[in-house]
Amino acid sequence: MATKVLIVEDEEQIARFVELELRHEGYMTDKAVDGRTGLEKAESGEYDIVLLDIMLPELNGLEVLRRLRKTSEVPVILLTARDSVMDKVSGLDLGADDYVTKPFAIEELLARIRVALKKKGSQAKDEGGKLTWHELMVDPAAYSVTYGGAPIELSKREFDLLALLLTNRNIVLGRDTLLQKVCGYDYVGETNVIDVYIRYLRSKIDERFGVHMIQTVRGVGYVIKDE
Ligand code: CA
Repeated sequence: MATKVLIVEDEEQIARFVELELRHEGYMTDKAVDGRTGLEKAESGEYDIVLLDIMLPELNGLEVLRRLRKTSEVPVILLTARDSVMDKVSGLDLGADDYVTKPFAIEELLARIRVALKKKGSQAKDEGGKLTWHELMVDPAAYSVTYGGAPIELSKREFDLLALLLTNRNIVLGRDTLLQKVCGYDYVGETNVIDVYIRYLRSKIDERFGVHMIQTVRGVGYVIKDE
C-alpha cells in the first residue's frame, strides 16, 4: 500500500510542487491549507507522515503539532522559514521528527521523509534500538559501543555523531546538518569540528579494526553505507 503524506501548507505553489514530486515518487498525498483543517486531518490517523508548515492561517504549525502530539505519534517534518532558529528548537521540543528549511531542495525533503518513515519502522521492529554495522554494535540505551565484542570509548559527541550516521545509513549527511544535530542549533564554535570528530571516530574504529566504515563524500559530507 502506498505511503500517505499529508501536506499542511498555505503557500499554494509550494504545496503543489511538493505534491507533484511526491506523487512522482509513488506517494499518495493530501493537502490542507490552514492549521485547523491540517490538525483535523492529521488526527484522523489516515496518514503515514505529515509535512507541516509553521506559518499557517487559523492555527500555526507549532500549535497544530502541540495538539496533535496529545493523541498521535505520526511522524512530522516541519517546513520552516530560513533562520527561524526558535521555531526549529520549539518544533523539536514539541515532538517534530525533523525539519527542512525553506527554500529546500526536493531531494532533501524526500531523503528526510525516508529517514522519518524508516525510523518509525525500525522503532517498531527493534525495541532495543541497537545499531549495527558489520561487527560494530552501538547500544544507545546503554551508551556503549563495541566492535567484535571489544569495547570502544567514545566521547558524547563522537557517540552522537556515530549514532546519527548509523541511523541515517546510506544517506549522505551534510556538515551543517551534522553540526546542528550533534552540537546544537546555537553552536558558535569552529565549523570544522565535525571533521575533527570524524577523524577521532576513524582512528578509534576504522583504523583500529581495519575497516572503511565512514565514507567522505567530497564537498558534501559523510555517510555510512551498507556493504
Ligand atoms: Ca506558510
